Amino acid sequence: MIRINNATKIYDNGARGIQDVTLNIEKGEFAFIVGSSGSGKSTLIKLLLKEVDLTEGEIFINDENITYFSRKDTPFLRRKMGVVFQDFRLLPNKTVYENVAFAMQITDAANREIRRNVPMVLSMVGLQKKSKAYPNQLSGGEQQRCALARAIVNNPPLLICDEPTGNLDPDTAWDIMNLLNEINDRGTTIVMATHAWDIVDGMKKRVIALKNGFVVRDVERGGYSDEFYND
Ligand code: ADP
Ligand code: MG
Repeated sequence: MIRINNATKIYDNGARGIQDVTLNIEKGEFAFIVGSSGSGKSTLIKLLLKEVDLTEGEIFINDENITYFSRKDTPFLRRKMGVVFQDFRLLPNKTVYENVAFAMQITDAANREIRRNVPMVLSMVGLQKKSKAYPNQLSGGEQQRCALARAIVNNPPLLICDEPTGNLDPDTAWDIMNLLNEINDRGTTIVMATHAWDIVDGMKKRVIALKNGFVVRDVERGGYSDEFYND
């Protein structure tokens, strides 16, 4: 599903984002990207989303080489992957329903399909009763559930999350993790960057650890911490 070959990202100011990263993530996997602040987690996510370009190396999504994709190719990527960020990024002037519907409208989905799929995902994330609410009328957990509904409404094979629980209290964070588990069980590949060690330890999924941009550990059913980590 994701193949990253000898990928290096150096920013214009010389900062090292990631260094010589080689990774394969298979269809159906749930992989955490962990590491302390500045270790390169968000850089890796942004490279997958084509928000930044590689300095060296190659990235393939579903055997498609996206290394040289340009802005005009991003609609293709948006159909391949849903995205969830720490700060929700909902459209403030749209309701919950409209936020999720909008993600389908930009892929030219038929109205009939939109009217069918949006209520379905809203009920999956437990927001059916809030469909007419605006983001500022929701709790953080509800906003993130809305963002999650928006990310999966087009049924992408891949879901990318950057610190999705970073703004949530522990109980709410686990609600989101349980939803992610459910989505993964239905076959969606998930890549989640986080420094929430308790969540990573509780989930027992693949753990890919970064330090100074390098992959320093990659274990099948891992926990957050080992000798490389004390944050
Ligand atoms: P993490 O998400 O693990 O905290 P990042 O990927 O955001 O790490 O950052 C990795 C390194 O890249 C850090 O040294 C950071 O300062 C640098 N970096 C990130 N984004 C930029 C940017 N837009 N311009 C310059 N340097 C950046
Ligand atoms: Mg980050």
